[in-house]
Amino acid sequence: MLDYFKILAIKYNLSLDKVISIALNRYGIIIKDCNENRLRFNLNLLNNKKDNFYAVCVNTFKKSPFLLEDNSLYLDGIKIGYAHNITKDNCLATYFRNNKKAITFNSNSRSKCVGCKFCGTYSLKDDDNLDFSNKENIIAYFTKLLIENNISSMKKIESITICTGCFKDEDELIKHLLLVNNACKEMGFIGRINYIGSQLRDYSKIKKLANEIKNFGIYLTIEKFLDREKYMKKEKASLTLPKAKELLEYCSSIGITTTFLYILGLEDLKTIEYYFNYFKDSINKFPIVQVFQDYTPMQERYRCIEAKDIEYYLKARKIIANIFKDRNMELNSWECFRSIHFKDTKVVNNER
Ligand code: SF4
Repeated sequence: MLDYFKILAIKYNLSLDKVISIALNRYGIIIKDCNENRLRFNLNLLNNKKDNFYAVCVNTFKKSPFLLEDNSLYLDGIKIGYAHNITKDNCLATYFRNNKKAITFNSNSRSKCVGCKFCGTYSLKDDDNLDFSNKENIIAYFTKLLIENNISSMKKIESITICTGCFKDEDELIKHLLLVNNACKEMGFIGRINYIGSQLRDYSKIKKLANEIKNFGIYLTIEKFLDREKYMKKEKASLTLPKAKELLEYCSSIGITTTFLYILGLEDLKTIEYYFNYFKDSINKFPIVQVFQDYTPMQERYRCIEAKDIEYYLKARKIIANIFKDRNMELNSWECFRSIHFKDTKVVNNER
């Protein structure tokens, strides 16, 4: 496998550690005598001094070529990395990204949200059962979080991204977004508030929301282009692709930062090429493309035939980079823990 990854790295003009990192996310790892199904850790790959963060599935894909033993990572028996800070992957109420300048806020118990076939959050330990239904609780929580992390003020936080379980309806969600905005503003927060989801649909309500939240981002969870109703819960699948396109266009037109999330591994490359082109001009921020992971062994059956092989992810990377090559879009690698490694800030024209 290592030789194959080396060939792919040369063929697709990507460093070997990035090819390995895509494979790690696709295959997960094997750990002997381990009952956990997911772990988080920092990993120094191939003698790199700089480590990277991973959250991967454990023992869910039996044919994975990666074995973790005594902190060492082996690929088909060859030691290729060193893992540290290994912890169980639980479902937290918040976590940081980008050197603690960005907060992901799971304020409505994502661990209780079920219904999408490719999702596995419900299978994680639920450490996200906190009450964020009033301003006082939100302020108290963030005050403690900043102290515990030696962050002097909310002004240091550049973005808060709400990525959480579905709300009862759109109005409940809007109420919550405004609550978070007010609480954080009161604490001096001046960054961007992003919403990851697909429950905002009504244009006049979105407009009002964008007037209140000055720096607002909508990251639409498209996730999959075809057979959406078979794979996703009703609330999400009810947003058809033409409606999603129109919604993204509207949000972009009123100055909202607009993008979409896509799970890579569920459908073939032709479909990917067609629909990334379809959405290309509707967004103003580069899409977030995540490698599909098997939270449970059964989920491997949702991976399309082409996506069984690592080359699929590299071909998809090339296709998507090409589609967006002329657009100078914001792209932050830290926004995706299971990425296919597009280049930061903008996708440059020499992507192959
Ligand atoms: S909406 Fe779907 S993908 Fe999102 S947390 Fe709920 S089940 Fe998972």
